[in-house]
Amino acid sequence: MITSSIISPQDIQAHYNILNRIGCLGDQPDKGFTRAAYSDEETAVLAYFATQAELIGLHTDWDAVGNLCIETKDKHEHWVECGSHVDTVPAGGNFDGLAGIVAGFVAIAALNQLPRAYGLRLRIWRGEESASFGITSIGASAALGLLPADSLNNRHAGRSLAEAIREQGADPKFIEQRQSTISQCELDHIAAHIELHIEQGIVLEKETLDIGIVSGIRASSRSWISLQGEFDHSGATPMGKTYRRDTNLALAHILVALDDLFSSYQKENPSIDLVQTIGHINSNKEKNEHDDELYNNAISKVSGYAYFSYELRSCDDILRNSYKKEAMQTVQNIAASFGVTVEVESVSNSSGVKALNQPLQQRMRSICETLHYKHRTLASGAWHDAALIAQQKRSDQSNIPVAMIFIPCLKGKSHSPEEFSSYEQIAKGASLLANLMQQDLNDL
Ligand SMILES: [Zn+2]
Repeated sequence: MITSSIISPQDIQAHYNILNRIGCLGDQPDKGFTRAAYSDEETAVLAYFATQAELIGLHTDWDAVGNLCIETKDKHEHWVECGSHVDTVPAGGNFDGLAGIVAGFVAIAALNQLPRAYGLRLRIWRGEESASFGITSIGASAALGLLPADSLNNRHAGRSLAEAIREQGADPKFIEQRQSTISQCELDHIAAHIELHIEQGIVLEKETLDIGIVSGIRASSRSWISLQGEFDHSGATPMGKTYRRDTNLALAHILVALDDLFSSYQKENPSIDLVQTIGHINSNKEKNEHDDELYNNAISKVSGYAYFSYELRSCDDILRNSYKKEAMQTVQNIAASFGVTVEVESVSNSSGVKALNQPLQQRMRSICETLHYKHRTLASGAWHDAALIAQQKRSDQSNIPVAMIFIPCLKGKSHSPEEFSSYEQIAKGASLLANLMQQDLNDL
């Protein structure tokens, strides 16, 4: 068994020297990157890894929906996988997704000639970011036969998803028929699946840590909440609830009450796995184009209409749903006390991963101790492809053991040209990944 930092920053940099040019928005990587889902730039990165893989004697396999698999050529019955994505949001960075692919590739390259109990596989998923076609994890969902057929009509940059898939040499028919490219037998033979990703938050950097061991993956529930009061003359209508059905005033009280509700939960459980965000107040461009009533508000009127977005995220769907119920009741009660009515439009509700595989987390802790990497356990605030694998079942109804490794990113920034992790930071994550992928994982 290896117990060393076998991946060097130079191993990581060697790939970035080339990858920093694909989809870069200027002459330097700090200008940002755009590699949309199913774009030429995304394909160019996949093609780069396919070439590199073949050069060192690894097997490459493009699935029917355009994902790339890189595998060791040995004949093992079971596989230890890693995976992530290489697409970016518009004007994003070159680490969200890509760091995990570079780390996975160098880990497999380092282990290729060493004795192992498993075959090793890197999955490079297409289109994880929802920025291009409005859906997250397109490639992974399609490969698992989970992508709704009507999503093929979603459009980006003047073409439908179906057209984009075809342009990149893949076949949208598999999605039309919801046919998976990964068989149940293949799922049954995955010994473990691991995704390395940048944290996209500031916890690791703030605590000067090398590694985050991810405990679970949060998913979100999103809604639009609109409030209807009464437009009245601001001078002629007396103050007070008897005369005014003031939407903006109700809204202000609602926001404070939601924060108070959250604080009361947090007081009872300081490490509660839940975050609550009001991202928009009357400020969604697309909605506003069709929402004339919003512009009936005026400086000389009591406000009669407002809306806001409401998002909850947690690894624990049950906790999230029960909190949401209470939050919606709070909104109703306060609105009613101002004579304002409430309409809730649910936008999305996805399922998180309450707990990633605990024995894998324990293995990662002990490898970190051996390698003298400072680490902590934390939940993933963002969605990742690995969540989809964690939600699959083997034929015997057991879960596929899934782990995630976080590495720090500068100031917690992602989805922007500021996104940055050093080659040293990625190399530490990759060394942990390589050590884990070489272990005997029979007892998971
Ligand atoms: Zn990502």
